[in-house]
Amino acid sequence: MSENKEKTLESLGEFGLIEHLTNSIEIKNGSTIKGVGDDAAVLDYKDKQTIVTTDLLLQGIHFDLVYTPIVHLGYKAVMVNLSDVYAMNATPKQITVSIGVSSKVSLPIVEQLYDGIKLACNKHNVDLIGGDTSTSLTGLTISITAIGEANKEDIVYRSGAKPNDLICVSGDLGAAYMGLQLLEREKRVHQGNTEIQPDLSGYDYILERQLKPEARKDVIEFLKTIGVKPTAMIDISDGLSSEIMHICKQSNTGCRIYENKIPIDHATSLFAEEINMNPTVAALNGGEDYELLFTISIEDYAKFNQETDIKIYTIGHITDESKGQYLVTNGDEEVELQAQGWNAVQ
Ligand code: ADP
Ligand code: MG
Repeated sequence: MSENKEKTLESLGEFGLIEHLTNSIEIKNGSTIKGVGDDAAVLDYKDKQTIVTTDLLLQGIHFDLVYTPIVHLGYKAVMVNLSDVYAMNATPKQITVSIGVSSKVSLPIVEQLYDGIKLACNKHNVDLIGGDTSTSLTGLTISITAIGEANKEDIVYRSGAKPNDLICVSGDLGAAYMGLQLLEREKRVHQGNTEIQPDLSGYDYILERQLKPEARKDVIEFLKTIGVKPTAMIDISDGLSSEIMHICKQSNTGCRIYENKIPIDHATSLFAEEINMNPTVAALNGGEDYELLFTISIEDYAKFNQETDIKIYTIGHITDESKGQYLVTNGDEEVELQAQGWNAVQ
């Protein structure tokens, strides 16, 4: 075998690449009986229920390598899956990673992708137990499947919300979308004139929210500590509007969300102003915030009154289905929520 610095995807070949990417993996969870290296992985969840979720990321559709650091891409690809497991009030334990790589993708790119993937796994105590590797005709494709566990009675579905339940969110919204708008803007400027380097200084928060989202394991643990089991839960990947509508549809309810209660960071408002956008629209329709949106019974509300680092925002309440799904604006108007987007009534 040639020296490390001379390794290429071609010289490694498929099996060499798999070995190269996975030989440092140490199994962390007792439920992982067999990880990488056989025809299939073997898991043992004993009397727990098993949670499975998968996401497909295509270059040019879901990510743009022009402005996405590849380590961050690996990290985010794992986070979006773990976020789905946490949204079931479950604990992720294993992932599989499948990649399609074209001749345009170099070994350092794949190595950095796995650096990000492994970082995310270590942070969330998750085992990488397998995957698949193939050449592709164009670009980079990543498909990750996350597997987790929960006691049957702990699992939270989208369908459990009841009228009068409070609607809560675990963090501020719209920042990831503003980060994306900033990156797209700088890409356009950069493409028009290669002399100009992207100027991203001072925009750290919205960039971090777009490029390095964090799945909210801490929120799930916090809710357990204070003895609150949400009645319904979902993670915010597509924007507040469509996510609350998913909960309402599956729970056969309506809702009222109050515009002035939606948490929006100052950095989000500043950039929204810069590009003449209403920050509420970014929160409702932007997506990729990966915060948890959940409903709780009114009796559980008092349990939140404790000293804690974790801030939970109450943004509205569930109603009877007949009352519809509405945003109550700062001007006290009721605007019907739309899955495809809510148009600002200025
Ligand atoms: P098969 O031919 O049966 O599909 P592979 O040679 O593709 O087997 O895989 C061998 C082992 O390596 C399996 O355990 C598989 O899960 C793992 N593996 C393959 N590709 C990847 C990858 N990109 N990341 C992590 N593990 C992988
Ligand atoms: Mg295979």
